[in-house]
Amino acid sequence: MTSSSFLDADIEFLKGVGPRRGEVLRQDLGVKTPRDLLYLYPFRYIDKTNFQSTRDVRADGDVVLLKGKIISIEKIKGKAYKSRLTALLKDGEGFIELVWFQGVKFIESMLQEGKEYIVYGRVNVYGGKKSLAHPELEEFTTDVEFHKALDPVYPSSEKLDGLGLDSKGRRRLLKAIFEKVTPEDVPENLPDYLRDQLKFPNRYQTLQWIHFPKDEHQKTIAQNRLKFEEFFFLQLQLIHKRAGRKQLLKGAKFETIGEKFNRFYKEKLPFELTQAQKRVLKEIRADLGAGFQMNRLLQGDVGSGKTIVALMTMLMAIDNGYQASLMAPTEILATQHFESISAMVEGLGIRVAYLSGSVKGKKRKDTLALLADGHIDILIGTHALIEEKVVFHRMGLSIIDEQHRFGVAQRASLWRKSDQVAPHILVMTATPIPRTLALTMYGDLDVSIIDELPVGRKEIKTIHKYETARPQVIAFMHAEIAKGRQIYVVFPLIEESENFDLKDLMAGYEMLLQYFPQPDYQISVVHGRMKPADKDFEMKRFVEKKAQLMVATTVIEVGVNVPNASVMVIENAERFGLSQLHQLRGRVGRGADQSYCILMSGNKLSADARKRIGTMVKTTNGFEIAAVDMELRGPGEMDGTRQSGVNQFKLLNLSKDIPVIDAARKWAELVLEEDPELSLPKNVRLYNYLRFISRTDGDWRRIS
Ligand code: ADP
Ligand code: MG
Repeated sequence: MTSSSFLDADIEFLKGVGPRRGEVLRQDLGVKTPRDLLYLYPFRYIDKTNFQSTRDVRADGDVVLLKGKIISIEKIKGKAYKSRLTALLKDGEGFIELVWFQGVKFIESMLQEGKEYIVYGRVNVYGGKKSLAHPELEEFTTDVEFHKALDPVYPSSEKLDGLGLDSKGRRRLLKAIFEKVTPEDVPENLPDYLRDQLKFPNRYQTLQWIHFPKDEHQKTIAQNRLKFEEFFFLQLQLIHKRAGRKQLLKGAKFETIGEKFNRFYKEKLPFELTQAQKRVLKEIRADLGAGFQMNRLLQGDVGSGKTIVALMTMLMAIDNGYQASLMAPTEILATQHFESISAMVEGLGIRVAYLSGSVKGKKRKDTLALLADGHIDILIGTHALIEEKVVFHRMGLSIIDEQHRFGVAQRASLWRKSDQVAPHILVMTATPIPRTLALTMYGDLDVSIIDELPVGRKEIKTIHKYETARPQVIAFMHAEIAKGRQIYVVFPLIEESENFDLKDLMAGYEMLLQYFPQPDYQISVVHGRMKPADKDFEMKRFVEKKAQLMVATTVIEVGVNVPNASVMVIENAERFGLSQLHQLRGRVGRGADQSYCILMSGNKLSADARKRIGTMVKTTNGFEIAAVDMELRGPGEMDGTRQSGVNQFKLLNLSKDIPVIDAARKWAELVLEEDPELSLPKNVRLYNYLRFISRTDGDWRRIS
């Protein structure tokens, strides 16, 4: 990239900036150079061809663009700086009041009675009176150009507004930039063949159009090209990284499908595998036989049968003379895995052991010694498995269940468990995430998806009830218990306010005691603040059917398997996130009986809460639910996505821009398939641009 360009000079030297504004631009927006300003795109546009009338303005919260005459201005003095400025705007026969609480002086100097203005803002309706607080404001001119344009609106700050660098001021700066900028200043980064195929304008044109589109068409094309770039270059990096690791990291080669695997398949497997399970096992098998280290993400909805896939993958390792480990995020879940897997492989001569923080003393010492000597084939446990003292004899495969609870660093520390070759890694997650998000977060992993539930599962009936229907719900619970079923009652737990939630839980417990009195009924209680031993005791009472009800916080969220529990009541359901509700619901529907999930809520629901509950009632498909979740919360707030760089996009929206994302991924794959190191002359722009953007990353630097 040319560094001699005026675009890379200090921002304060740009016409109309100067030292003071330069300082604020740096501080508030991180804009150091004119180039930074050029790449700070508008987040919306004002269509000046389309004015509304004050008469049509009705609802609170509507966003409107109006044109009218200011017929009066009034400044109301308050204490200290708390002055307020109001102005009355008239269009046709209607009026609307404009109000400013901040920057009063500046606005006052701009406004003139009798002049025509364009205003843009959100409507407040109070007592029948309409007003706009802090609208965007611009004098109306009869300039012809003006009417044809879409006006860009930029992210700003109070300070910038005060210094005249609101959107209008910023447009002026951008205009000043565009007076000087040449195509050489913004070199093309896409090859011509790609641009031709995709019918994209060149980069220079694109930047002009993103800031100053003449119409919707130009705006859309410019946005599409920039969104494409955002995802395309990221995918090039991720796919390249994945390929590089495959070449660099040798993995244990599992050449045979051996005796243990075959005997398990023929003698032990208690059911027919689903097509999806078979397909995924084939994908894994191909990886394991290739001689390169596997790094695979296994996604599957709750109850889709990931455990059996994990077990059969471990059998492949054992048949080839390697040890395998399975790590779960909680003690309860790890214990369940240990018990169910031990039972499933009984008689096959496979040695399964358990390790967690609570395995201590001699037992721990023995386990570690057996492991180091190679007398243990499968080690199951919690994150105690990644402690340094845990040494394997011949580690070949490491499986991580319910991945979102483990960090990337923990994943990496598993690699060090083998000194011969990097162990294969299979990461299993029960929180389905939208494909677009998976490509962003895990684009460097291979992904397998179990997109099918075992046959014969009865759909869980999900019902939303308000608090007022409590008696009806209690009656239903009694009826189900009379049939011999067990019931979970779940209370929300939000980490920061555990005490408060515990109060909820205990109050709920007291309430249930009244409806389900001892000794006829037993209620077990489980929450995160309990000692592990107490928790286990209470869990056991439920698992062994000694308790009919279990009152719990979300500690039961992950993995617990009690097939006879067929009803789940979720209290204050409006306080749970969508993926959490889905996870919880997955605890029922595991047996042969019809299962129910009852979502209890208060009468007042926010729009988002209504949508979350509505989605739960409508579907049990985890991928559908994940898509809605992402739409509501944004990709950066999904479980496990924090710090994962999914918020790096300036324009791209992972929920909405699916066609662009698909095209970008497809092209990244095609380009790298033909030219893995981007060494062909026709790809030189891609190579250069990647080197430019990954200066800190170093990934593409290594090649040259
Ligand atoms: P998850 O993917 O949520 O971890 P599990 O592996 O716990 O799901 O499986 C859920 C239940 O489904 C288990 O009881 C398991 O034995 C059963 N299961 C798994 N695969 C099949 C299958 N192909 N047919 C019938 N039942 C299956
Ligand atoms: Mg599971």
